[in-house]
Amino acid sequence: MKRSPVTWGGIGLLLGVCLVVGGAPASPVQQVPISFNDYHGYTGSVDYIKKVAAAYPDITEVIEIGKSFRERPIFVLVISNMKTGTTIDRNVALRNMRNEPNTQNVQPMKTYQGKPGIWIDGGTHGNEFTGTEVCLYTIDKLVSNYGTDPEITRLINDDVFYICPVVNPDGVYNSVEAGISQRQNSPAPDAAPPPQAAAGTPRDVNGDGVISQFRYKDPKGRYVQYEADPRVMVAVPANEATTKERYSVIVEGQAGPGAAPAPAGAPAPQGAPAARGIDVNRNFPEGWFRDDGFQGGSGSYPSSSPEARAVLEFFTNHTNILMVQSFHTSGGFTYRPYARWPDSRLDPKDMSVFDRIMGRKYLELIGEEIPEAWKAPAPAAKASPDAPGAQARGAAAQGVRGRGAAGTQETQARPAARTAAPAARGPQGWRHPYNEEQRTPYGYGIFLDWAYAEFGAYALSTELWNWQKDSKGLPGFAGENDRPLWESAYIKYQETQLAGKAFLPWKSYAYPGIGDGEIGGWIAKYGSGNAIPGESLAALCSTHYQFELFRAKLLPRLEISDARAVVLYTTDAAASARVEQQGDTFTVRRGKPAGKYRIIQVTATVRNNGDLATHVSRGAQLAGNREDVIWLIGDRDRIRFLQGSPWARLGVLEGAVAIPGYTPPAVSETPAGGRGRGGAPPGPGGQPQARRQIPETPQVKGTGNTREISWLISVEGDTPLKLVLTSQKGGTTVRDLKVN
Ligand SMILES: [Zn+2]
Repeated sequence: MKRSPVTWGGIGLLLGVCLVVGGAPASPVQQVPISFNDYHGYTGSVDYIKKVAAAYPDITEVIEIGKSFRERPIFVLVISNMKTGTTIDRNVALRNMRNEPNTQNVQPMKTYQGKPGIWIDGGTHGNEFTGTEVCLYTIDKLVSNYGTDPEITRLINDDVFYICPVVNPDGVYNSVEAGISQRQNSPAPDAAPPPQAAAGTPRDVNGDGVISQFRYKDPKGRYVQYEADPRVMVAVPANEATTKERYSVIVEGQAGPGAAPAPAGAPAPQGAPAARGIDVNRNFPEGWFRDDGFQGGSGSYPSSSPEARAVLEFFTNHTNILMVQSFHTSGGFTYRPYARWPDSRLDPKDMSVFDRIMGRKYLELIGEEIPEAWKAPAPAAKASPDAPGAQARGAAAQGVRGRGAAGTQETQARPAARTAAPAARGPQGWRHPYNEEQRTPYGYGIFLDWAYAEFGAYALSTELWNWQKDSKGLPGFAGENDRPLWESAYIKYQETQLAGKAFLPWKSYAYPGIGDGEIGGWIAKYGSGNAIPGESLAALCSTHYQFELFRAKLLPRLEISDARAVVLYTTDAAASARVEQQGDTFTVRRGKPAGKYRIIQVTATVRNNGDLATHVSRGAQLAGNREDVIWLIGDRDRIRFLQGSPWARLGVLEGAVAIPGYTPPAVSETPAGGRGRGGAPPGPGGQPQARRQIPETPQVKGTGNTREISWLISVEGDTPLKLVLTSQKGGTTVRDLKVN
């Protein structure tokens, strides 16, 4: 199907209405009901996306992208109008097509692979399953509003959403369904099918069907009862004096001080010991190598976990992804790159896109004040960005006060610190994980860094949920010291709003191997690390859905306009003619008469009407990525290119809006393949990478978001001609040429 963004907005809307609601205007159609009164976990998520795919076959597709160690499939739900869009392989015939029976030439592309893509995932860390819910919420809003909401309809027609609600199936399954908090993946397949989270699971010591807590008096314990509500336990360090009675608190059945071992012969417990599992979000190739060796949990080599491998392979096969969001918990803020590298390594243009476009919107959505520096456009740095001064200025302008950010002391071996970047100086809600003050990486092998630096996507990782701010129906809380207050309020709330399923009343219990105490308290999955189900969770999902919708609307939108094919010369008998060009003069030498013959000038203007460029700053230079290209296509045997070639490189089509706080270097300062002036700061690999500007050629003119292209061709007969504009991450669009 031909696609021209000029008209798709309107046509797509009409088509959508016809497809979904039979032509009548209607309110959103929720064919697969979903509520957020509890967590869906792995099983519920898979069930939901399969039902959605069955209910909305024209705009969805389920793809299994891999399997966990315990054989649980990892699914991506694709959301895009399956009947719109085109791809390069639908338009350019193979030269060396093989026709033998049962010979596969090349795997045909899906139409959505020719559309700009946005990836959204959750549940990479198994016990951070709020992101899974945001994914499901986003799916619901997109499919339910398709055909009625013009903006969503346009996005689904023109773009593609790849949504992976559970990246780490074993971790999410154990954390939600089995009730045992598990961050990492599971280390190895079970010999036998894993026991289900029912009564009798070895960890469910008292056999009530859930994993709760056990508290008991212990002079060495590190908890005391909260005065105002003795159901709540308050942490007190061992060396801190207290007049209250000390308690130990353990997760029911979990190895802890004095915990009973699993009965002999019992199946292996579901929750994988963290020491043996892989931290999937430390298992990606970018920055995986720690300076002083391994880091715990990062795996034996990059992508050694089936989960990271599945994601990497999916991205490799879906290079149209330009936006990435990977949801984690908790804290209530968003990380943009880098985790491994200081801000001095981040391209200034991308930093502006992240902070002043996306960050600004994010802060607005979560109700945090926008930094002054982001409101007014900053004066453009004229000096080379890889000069130390320029970097320091750049960093200061972003509100991050690095100390001489140009230094490279981050390469010194230091233990990775889990502390956040100096957030007090920048927005609380918008950060980068690298610790500029201590010059320490946040971690190694992190997906955020890989998706941006190696794949070339605007990657973010939101730490969802701040219990102090986001708990609906509970009073506001000031800080960590208010935790007992929050727990007490949550206990009361869940009694009326959640049927008491989050917190069990303490009951006397003689724990095998420990003795007398009380069993009850929190069910692990309802702890403070994930959004409270119900109104809190739904409100949180709504905010982050809106943010991702905002980001989807920034995607490139390519258009071919003013396409013309004008016949300059025609004859009815010159098939074997030769045409020679000298300046503006064309000389035709006739050969054997054999049919109609024309010389045609083709001109076109192409434009990116989307807000953002078709690549991140260095995107087109990354291995595996490419510039935007336009093809002039007809019958190969009947066309000769007198001026221009079948395809022309266009460089990277910039976005239609100016990036706030960023002034592109003047073209004269960046000669083609230029080094030095205008060069971007060294990339993560340590190599200076020049910002290449495509030189104007007789065939291609223009900069920014527009190019004018021209060809001169000789054509035999009436072979149809078309233009195909193809951008790896900006989409593919086709325009048939009418010869005049
Ligand atoms: Zn996480």
